Amino acid sequence: MLAMEFRGPYRVRAKHKSDPQIEHPNDAIIRVTRSCICGSDLHLYHGLVPDTHVGTTFGHEFTGVVEQVGQSVQNLKVGDHVLVPFNIFCGSCYFCQKELYSNCHNVNSQATAVGAIYGYSHTAGGYDGGQAEFVRVPMADVGPTVIPKDLHVEDAVLLTDAFPTGYQAAEMGDIKEGDTVVVFGAGPVGIFAAKSAWLLGAGRVIVVDHVEYRLEFVRNYAQCEVVNFKEVDDMAVHIKKMTDGLGADVCIDCVGCEAVGNAMQTLTGRYMKLQGGAATVLHWAINSVRKAGTVSIVGVYGPTFNAIPIGNAVNKGLTLRMNQASVKRHLPRLIEHIQAGRISPREIITHRIPLEEVADAYHMFSSKLDNCIKTVLIPPG
Ligand code: NAD
Ligand code: ZN
Repeated sequence: MLAMEFRGPYRVRAKHKSDPQIEHPNDAIIRVTRSCICGSDLHLYHGLVPDTHVGTTFGHEFTGVVEQVGQSVQNLKVGDHVLVPFNIFCGSCYFCQKELYSNCHNVNSQATAVGAIYGYSHTAGGYDGGQAEFVRVPMADVGPTVIPKDLHVEDAVLLTDAFPTGYQAAEMGDIKEGDTVVVFGAGPVGIFAAKSAWLLGAGRVIVVDHVEYRLEFVRNYAQCEVVNFKEVDDMAVHIKKMTDGLGADVCIDCVGCEAVGNAMQTLTGRYMKLQGGAATVLHWAINSVRKAGTVSIVGVYGPTFNAIPIGNAVNKGLTLRMNQASVKRHLPRLIEHIQAGRISPREIITHRIPLEEVADAYHMFSSKLDNCIKTVLIPPG
């Protein structure tokens, strides 16, 4: 089959590999119909995630048709068209019973607490991902969800991560009717967090980024105010000015380690140089929220990352909420929002690119070229 293959930082290619096989009775093999590139894939692409082996295939946002099921799979049948949440989880442990699927006890790394994710390095379980013609789906009875007939496949693929993650980011903000919500990051996750903030009752939504075309997009798509951080001297002072001197009720980090950076500590304890200021976005979020407000974090950081201004957070009496999204928990509600016409996720897709051209697609998304927001890879055939 054709698959994306990681060769090293900033180097990926399309390559012929052997097809995945059923390895356990509860596996399924899925023929991929769509897969996306995510901001999280950029952390791998930039070489920030240790144990990202050369030769592995990324891709944790995909839809596909069931080709084959293992002996014990009962909830899926060959021919079902499914969307597959990015988390791999058992569905029955202490945490899964509480719908904390991203914290599943049976697949999390005991050392780092990182959950298992398709195509996300050996740190996250070492599973190959869906930027390929076929992918092996473990514990296939619990994750994959049959795509309702009236749901467009491009809306479905955005339900595997970006939309639920943005929604959970807003939900963890515990937004009260009329609240002012500031979202940092106008990538796909931030765009959906902004949209979700309205769905959850926000009275005002402000999105911060520095990429003008993304700010322009989110201003129209989510009907929000925008701030270009390059035009602001002091973010906290600026947000306070916009909010009668108090600060925002809720701040949401949809950026993660992209923004971190004179120095960022990686999983291995090495320090990486990146663009921007060290932990910029966490400082901005904690300093821009009002006293007793809430900061919600879905931006991805390495487990050993520790540059958080905790003193300010304690003194202000903040609530800090954070997690990897538990995609499956949100699906019924989000499908209903789409079916009711309250949101059209696929409008954020700017590029549909053949899997053969995966190298160009990564370069474009990483460098923010050609007004790229969300890229969908289309396998041959
Ligand atoms: P993306 O790279 O497309 O978007 C990130 C945006 O942040 C970019 O537009 C960038 O210009 C902007 N940015 C950089 N520094 C900033 C700063 N200091 N302030 C404001 N904006 C800044 O990525 P995405 O797909 O939208 O994902 C966003 C983050 O969410 C990533 O860290 C990703 O790994 C993470 N993520 C987390 C989960 C989860 O379950 N917790 C799931 C998916 C993605
Ligand atoms: Zn993702």
